[in-house]
Amino acid sequence: MVEVSVETTFRNPSRSRRQEWQRATHILRECKQWLVDGWEDDSLASSVTTGDIDNPLYSALQNQAIRNAKSDYADESIEYTGEQPIEVNNQNWEIHTTENDSVVIGFPCISDWWYTPIHVHESIEEPVQALLDGDAEKTKLSVWREGGDWHCSFTVEYDEQQDGEETPIGVDVGHNYILAATPDNASAESFLVSGKEHKFVRRYYRSLRDSLQETGAHRARTRVGNKEYRRIQDMNHTLSKRLVEYASQFENPVIKLEDLENIRDGSEWNGVHSWPFYELQQFITYKAEKEGVCVEKVDPENTSQECSQCDELVGRDGSKFECPHCGYVRHADLNAAENISQREGDPCTA
Ligand SMILES: [Zn+2]
Repeated sequence: MVEVSVETTFRNPSRSRRQEWQRATHILRECKQWLVDGWEDDSLASSVTTGDIDNPLYSALQNQAIRNAKSDYADESIEYTGEQPIEVNNQNWEIHTTENDSVVIGFPCISDWWYTPIHVHESIEEPVQALLDGDAEKTKLSVWREGGDWHCSFTVEYDEQQDGEETPIGVDVGHNYILAATPDNASAESFLVSGKEHKFVRRYYRSLRDSLQETGAHRARTRVGNKEYRRIQDMNHTLSKRLVEYASQFENPVIKLEDLENIRDGSEWNGVHSWPFYELQQFITYKAEKEGVCVEKVDPENTSQECSQCDELVGRDGSKFECPHCGYVRHADLNAAENISQREGDPCTA
């Protein structure tokens, strides 16, 4: 549950309603003053009701005036100066959308309920939409004048938007380049450690080779003194950080990784070459969790051979993927990442 304060302005309220609102702010000042003065000199009971109040305001406004004056009054005299905001409790105002898609707020005043369009700027779109959808609770409404503009404010309580679409981001590690990531959408921005980063990539693979030669297979991970191992670890930190930053630009991102734990025999992942990539995945998972980004693991079978568009098995030839069945052409590692993004995953934690 989140609680968001919404403040905005009314769109061009008509002259007649501005005059009425203005009048109400003055009546409210008199009314609240009369209440606190009455409590002060004991001429009013603290149980005063709208029946005791003699002014033309709707009783919803009178009720809120009593509540406000009570909370203002602490056995000490109060001098209300200036216009007092028009306020009504949550049950006595409305918000809805008109036929021409304006969002209007309605509240009672003196002669009538007034329904007036408000400006829905970007920063209040989400809570306002939650209210319009009936998925949120609102609090009391305040309406006041500032210069030439009429403002309103209220608080919205709602469950954070989980119904916004998730964006699965497929992440392919180490097939050709170290990291390739993309949503299932060839026109969205992709993430590929390649191209202008050739040097970085070469250094990574050279470190990887040296490390494996020196220490042999899995034992490399336990050789903490190993300089090459440290180098790879540093690069994994950098890479995972950049990847999580990349993923965070999408709406409700879900990072999908290949499940390398239960790798099949004969897979290119089988054997000793995978520990730097296990580590890279672990760092990605850990950093994603810290940023509140979900991570899932998916079946890795044929992710680099399958065409992400028609699902035919094609195999790959270098860094370019070309499907003879449907004609799809993409960087091979991004095609693999697309396949990964499409697969159902199991949630995982670091
Ligand atoms: Zn295809």
